[in-house]
Amino acid sequence: MISSIGDRIASIRSSLPTSVQLIAVSKTFPAEIIRSAYAAGIRDFAESRIQEAAAKQVELQDLTDITWHFIGHLQSNKAKKALEQFQWIHSVDNLQLAQRLNQLASQLGVSPQICLQVKILPDPHKSGWSVPQLLAELPAINQCKNLQIQGLMTIPPLGLDNTGLLNVFNSTYRLAQQIQEQNWSHIQMQHLSMGMSGDYQLAVEAGATMVRLGTILFGDRP
Ligand SMILES: *Cc1c(COP(=O)(O)O)cnc(C)c1O
Repeated sequence: MISSIGDRIASIRSSLPTSVQLIAVSKTFPAEIIRSAYAAGIRDFAESRIQEAAAKQVELQDLTDITWHFIGHLQSNKAKKALEQFQWIHSVDNLQLAQRLNQLASQLGVSPQICLQVKILPDPHKSGWSVPQLLAELPAINQCKNLQIQGLMTIPPLGLDNTGLLNVFNSTYRLAQQIQEQNWSHIQMQHLSMGMSGDYQLAVEAGATMVRLGTILFGDRP
């Protein structure tokens, strides 16, 4: 099991352009599995629940160079914990949350790395800004000066074929470009967090800079 995680990591790594960051999605897997991925060279891990992550982070305190990424839906009452436990939050999905994080970041003296989660297609099962909403709220987002807004995150709706997936990823890329061209003082568009186990090759083709991989590294979630 341990060597097979190492093998899978090595083979996926070698298939990715060196500019693309591999983030291992360790949600539902125990700390020992994270430790074996760490031994295989992974330093970026993503979790989608604050509480679950906290327990593992305590067990892994000795691995001081891990970067933790939060990718789940973040409720406002967990925002402070998220800032204390995670360096990156990929799933900032509405203005109120961005403003809350901004205020807390100032109080805590942290400057978190942020992706704005966007829905290219309507999807009742996912949170995130619609494109028109996001464009309209950029002036307010730009006021969140304690956040280091690095780019966009997207999750395509279920059931798309490869053409549909590629369209979503290409549209996300173009949206990031459009925002970048507006030259906001506090919004950067250097990163695109997109691509999961089933679709990461398409996401990379469309310009992803960070892929979030769980199943393909660790197997089916328990
Ligand atoms: C669970 C999850 C992933 C990983 O999905 P896999 O299909 O297992 O690779 C990536 N991103 C988000 C937001 C997730 O919730």
